Formats: sequence, C-alpha cells, structure tokens
Amino acid sequence: MMLKDIFMSLSQNQFLNSTAKKYGLKMGAQSVVAGTNIEEAIKSIKDLNANGISCTVDNLGEFVFKEEEAAAAREQILKVIEAIHSNNADAHISLKPTQLGLDIDYSLCLNNVREIVDKANQYNMFVNIDMEDFKHLQPTLDLLDDLSLEYDNVGTVIQAYFHNAMDYLEKYKNYRIRLVKGAYKEPAEIAYQDKKDIDANYIKLIEWHLLNGKFTSIATHDHRIINHVKEFVKRNNIPNDKFEFQMLYGFRKELQLKLAKEGYNFCTYVPFGNDWYGYFMRRLAERPQNLNLVAKQVFNKKTNTILGVAAGAFILGRVTRGNNNKRK
Ligand SMILES: Cc1cc2nc3c(=O)[nH]c(=O)nc-3n(C[C@H](O)[C@H](O)[C@H](O)COP(=O)(O)OP(=O)(O)OC[C@H]3O[C@@H](n4cnc5c(N)ncnc54)[C@H](O)[C@@H]3O)c2cc1C
Repeated sequence: MMLKDIFMSLSQNQFLNSTAKKYGLKMGAQSVVAGTNIEEAIKSIKDLNANGISCTVDNLGEFVFKEEEAAAAREQILKVIEAIHSNNADAHISLKPTQLGLDIDYSLCLNNVREIVDKANQYNMFVNIDMEDFKHLQPTLDLLDDLSLEYDNVGTVIQAYFHNAMDYLEKYKNYRIRLVKGAYKEPAEIAYQDKKDIDANYIKLIEWHLLNGKFTSIATHDHRIINHVKEFVKRNNIPNDKFEFQMLYGFRKELQLKLAKEGYNFCTYVPFGNDWYGYFMRRLAERPQNLNLVAKQVFNKKTNTILGVAAGAFILGRVTRGNNNKRK
C-alpha cells in the first residue's frame, strides 16, 4: 500500500477524527490550517490581506449525517460572514455541500446554503460551492442552478480530470468559476488518470474560460501551469481583473507572495476549525513530502498525544490488512 493510500484511509477514520477534535492543532497541522476558531482564522486572513492577498474561508467539517450537524455548520459559516464583515477583511466563503446536509436531503442542503448566500449577498460577498466527488457533482450543480435564480454572488468549481469538464464549463461560462485538476479518486470511465492528460485538459479549460468566461480562479500549486497562464494572458491581452490565482493556506508561501507582489490577484484558501484532522490527512496524501512537518512536530516532542499513537496503530493495521479507498 502506498503512503498516499494510508493517509487517505486515515482521513476517513471517524474515531481518529473525533479524537483529534479534542486536541488543538497537532502533528504540524497548524502549518496548513489557519486556527481552530473564528478569531484565529480572522487573524490569519488579516495577515494575508496585509500582503495584498485576499482569502476564501473554509469552515472545516467532516461526517455530517444529521440535520443538527448541518445546521450547526450553517450557523458557524454565518458567524464567519459576520466576522469577515465586522473586521473589514478581504475574504469570501468556500463551502462544501455535504457539510450543509447534501447527504441527508437536497432541500435541506439548499435551504442551508441559501441562508448563507443570502447573508453574504447583504455584504456583497461571494460564496463558492466547492466540488466534491462525482456522486455529488450533479446535485452541486443543481444547487448552483437553484441559487442563481435568486442570487448572483455564487459560483462553483470545475475539475479538469473529468472527460466532459469542457461541457460543464461551457454551460457555466457566465459564472465565476474555480478551475482545479481534481482531488478525488474517480474511475477511468469518467476521468483521466494520467497526470499529463489531466494537465493538458486543465490548460485547455483555463485558456477557454479566460477567453470566454466571466471570471476565472486558477487554483493550483503547479508553477508550470502558473507560468503558462502568465504567458497566455499577456499574449491575449487578458486584463488582471478577469482572473486570479489561488493556493491553499501554508502551501508555497513564497510563490503566493511573489504572485501578489507581481500585481496578480491572489486568493488563499483558508481552512480553519477544530475538525482539521481529515483535511490535514488528505493534504498529506496529496503530497507526502509534508510528512517532514509531522516528523518534526510529533517525533521530536515528548508530549505525544493519544492521536499520534492511535494514528500509528491505525497505519500499522491498515498496512497489514489493506483496503480500498474512495476519496483521493
Ligand atoms: C485553492 C484550491 C481550491 C481547491 N478546491 C478544490 C475543489 O473544490 N474540488 C477539488 O476536487 N479539488 C480542489 N482543489 C484540489 C485540486 O483539485 C488538486 O487536487 C490540488 O490542488 C493538487 O493539484 P495541483 O494543481 O496543486 O498540482 P499537482 O499536480 O499536485 O502538482 C504539480 C507540480 O507542482 C509542484 N508542486 C505542487 N505542490 C507543491 C508544493 N506544495 N511545494 C512545491 N511544489 C509543489 C510540483 O512540482 C508538482 O509536481 C483545490 C486546490 C486549491 C489550490
């Protein structure tokens, strides 16, 4: 089993997730998670704003199967919107439909997201509906369609690994769209598996939306793609206010600052909250080099938490037993 698969398994473990909630940010997670509460998140956002970087804020949350849990997430996001407004921060919202009840009931989720979009709209704030796995793709687009009947401060994400990503992009060209390579493990019948195919489709989508779309958020840590975009916008006289670059909090910090300094719109994706564990494990799965962070934080300290021990035990269990994962 690959290290990547181990971290993906860990990210899906509910026991470790709930154990992690009882502790502060551990195991190096603080380098990629901007705090466990709204005050800490606002401080991180203001620090980024001071460097000319705007933010999209994600209230972390996993395993939402009950109506009360979805309502609690909604209330927390409403508080985040108030905090962004009252602190005069340059930030908007990113949310995951499953956290707001998509796996419970579509209408329940729509009502929760509508309350959030309505509140954000009062402050002229954008709300991005993040894209999860294929199972949730159509219902997520349905949310966008339904909300667009009433609001125009809402957009979503298109994942370049899907064979028919261009069809989605053409349909949603009049929206502010975040373009990504795609983060979930999807079958070969519907999604490219090879990096070079995904990258080629990603570039095709970016170029098309820059030429034909409303506003493009290019969300990647890949400097090759970023350099390509810089050349492309120059060659085609695409103004800076038609697009932005996005990266995750804590990733390639120097490059984030450099792009902002060069005058490009830059937006950092700022995840926060005490439900940080699954997010952190998925980031490790994506880029196991980040394991250095964990090694420094956990193994050099005498104060290992139960979490570290449980994680180790779980890894060993998984390595010997094997498994198969859904999420990437
Ligand atoms: C802001 C943001 C929002 C996102 N939202 C979604 C979403 O809603 N739905 C979804 O499915 N996915 C989302 N993603 C995840 C995305 O789909 C990819 O899985 C993720 O970004 C990894 O792909 P990449 O484009 O960064 O480049 P990769 O293909 O991972 O990396 C390409 C190359 O870039 C360089 N590189 C990458 N990372 C680093 C690093 N940390 N340090 C140094 N060099 C590096 C390396 O040379 C690497 O080979 C989001 C990503 C970002 C940044």
